[in-house]
Amino acid sequence: MIVARILKDKGRNVITATPDTPMAEVTRLLTDNRIGALAICDNDALIGIISERDIVTALSAHGAAIMQEPASRHMTKEVVTCTEQDTVHHLMEDMTTHRFRHIPVVENGKLTGIVSIGDVVKLRLALIEMEAESMRDYIKTG
Ligand code: AMP
Repeated sequence: MIVARILKDKGRNVITATPDTPMAEVTRLLTDNRIGALAICDNDALIGIISERDIVTALSAHGAAIMQEPASRHMTKEVVTCTEQDTVHHLMEDMTTHRFRHIPVVENGKLTGIVSIGDVVKLRLALIEMEAESMRDYIKTG
């Protein structure tokens, strides 16, 4: 199963922010859209990612003053990305190895989606359910 299959179901819309977006606005975008991470883009180029964990870490280290600071100060700059042709298995390996829950999808330098660990779990459950259903049918008709 490849990444394109997940995007077909969830869509290719990605909530983004610019590097100068204040952290208060980043927090609002995450809660309003019920998501865990934002892609940070500069003129359409992906330059970072910021997740709930970055906000908690920054708050714990520096307190509420960080809410006035720009996203660029707290985002992760070395973003691990995937392509639409990558396998979901490969994504699960990356998420497990690097211990993060989001992977932006980039095709020819353009952001075309984002996959969360929740999307991966949802797909895996659907596949397991489909397999069980075919086994039940096979046994019934056998
Ligand atoms: P998460 O588990 O996605 O909330 O992220 C945990 C940490 O990993 C945070 O510091 C994020 O900024 C960072 N992070 C999340 N996704 C990625 C990614 N695809 N590439 C690099 N860092 C990431």
